Amino acid sequence: MFDSAPLLRDVFGFDDFRPGQEEIVDAVTTGENVLAIMPTGGGKSLCFQLPALLRDGVTVVISPLIALMRDQVRGLQEAGVEAGALTSGNTPEETDAVWEALEAGRLKLLYMAPERLAAGSALGMLRRINVSLIAVDEAHCVSQWGHDFRPDYLRIGELRRALNVPLAAFTATADAETQDEIVQKLFDGSEPRKFLRGFDRPNIHLAFTAKDGPRKQVLDFAAARKGQSGIVYCGTRNKTEVLAKALCSEGHSACHYHGGMEADDRRIVETRFAREDGLIVVATVAFGMGIDKPDIRWVAHADLPKSIEAYYQEIGRAGRDGGPAETLTMFGPDDIRLRRSQIDEGLAPPERRMADHARLNALLGLAEALKCRRQTLLGYFGEQADPCGKCDLCDSPPEIFDGTTPVRMALSAILRTEEWFGAGHLIDILLANETDKIRARRHDTLSTYGIGKDWSRPQWQAIFRQMMGHDLVRPDPERHGALRMTESAKPILKGEAHINLRKDTIRKATRRPAVKA
Ligand code: ADP
Ligand code: ZN
Repeated sequence: MFDSAPLLRDVFGFDDFRPGQEEIVDAVTTGENVLAIMPTGGGKSLCFQLPALLRDGVTVVISPLIALMRDQVRGLQEAGVEAGALTSGNTPEETDAVWEALEAGRLKLLYMAPERLAAGSALGMLRRINVSLIAVDEAHCVSQWGHDFRPDYLRIGELRRALNVPLAAFTATADAETQDEIVQKLFDGSEPRKFLRGFDRPNIHLAFTAKDGPRKQVLDFAAARKGQSGIVYCGTRNKTEVLAKALCSEGHSACHYHGGMEADDRRIVETRFAREDGLIVVATVAFGMGIDKPDIRWVAHADLPKSIEAYYQEIGRAGRDGGPAETLTMFGPDDIRLRRSQIDEGLAPPERRMADHARLNALLGLAEALKCRRQTLLGYFGEQADPCGKCDLCDSPPEIFDGTTPVRMALSAILRTEEWFGAGHLIDILLANETDKIRARRHDTLSTYGIGKDWSRPQWQAIFRQMMGHDLVRPDPERHGALRMTESAKPILKGEAHINLRKDTIRKATRRPAVKA
């Protein structure tokens, strides 16, 4: 078999597959004919680009959109992949370079507009080189009844017959008639392997909760599911051991698992988990690849995962048998800080770090979501959905209130202290707590000093956390985690935008007066 993980990381810069990608990559790489239906934005291109690198020879990619082809080629070249396009938009030099790379046998991906197939010379050329795969983007363009019909797409079937290589077709159009037509026209009626699964896993209940005595929260969650197989994901190795012990002493059958264990010990846990009923594995993300136990009934995150993709993958291990499954993800300001600093302190190039922050932001947005979690999650993957009725926010919609006033107070405290302090000190300023640090820095003379007394300290902590969740502020690792404002905070500070906050987490925090709605 092949290992796609190193390429996924090193060439494409992703740590995890998006939903559905891995299965498709496997099938395409092994040379099956494939029809994959994925929502727009779901990550189709990876599903042929990665196999192209894993297979010998050239992958011919047929795509109708010249701009898109050029983008993809540029992206691949920047990642060090030999890719080229033959389109009407090429300069003669570009075309020469593509030919040269083809003749030299260096090219891995050749993008072609369908019109190119009409020229008789194209087929002759493609026969001479070692084509090992045809990938067809926007495969529904072959459908005569659809509004995107491209007559030249009808030549693709001919091309496949002539080259006699596997074909992978991709589209976001899911209706049965279009699928039938694709099968007829591209595969001559012989059924390809179909991947149709949308991203939704309707049997999985989704829930997030703010950390509030996290150890007890995990124990309570497990206690309510005694005897069921589950996974608790933790951010550190040490925590897996501590929590596993705590679960055992509550009478569960539990063990820990992390990458620092001997391979033999890890294998024992894997085997036990596969065979035993009701075992809880408390693990780092090292536990997952290759776990295909169908009846995992729950997954809890004792710490926030690192991205929305990681979250989806990890909860997705529950309920593979289609039976009901439950998940709970815990998060707090420390998680957010930790994940941010892991990204910032990593060795990845700047664009990659920005993308990682964006994926973390997407997860924080989900954590602080104001409406159905599934809608928010699927929306991120490009799929639309109705409110699901199977998430904590559908179960009990959060009360929201206009939080513009406290958020502006917090932002102005940040601004007046020149973005050099963390939430703890900022809250001291807002509450007029005369600490040594405040006196030393003369922060008691600031106009924001004591303006936040309508809220208690825990309430302010919740407000700051939600501000992080909305990506209004970010801790700066170069300033020891001091909070700095992002662009999205500016309109709020200037009074040009409003922001809604969740009431529940703020109201739960002690001491009156209650939040004003
Ligand atoms: P599609 O062609 O399905 O509309 P793309 O292939 O253009 O989607 O991918 C959409 C976005 O998803 C791109 O920004 C891409 O970088 C991102 N993406 C794809 N695969 C992954 C992954 N495994 N992890 C994170 N982001 C991904
Ligand atoms: Zn919902």
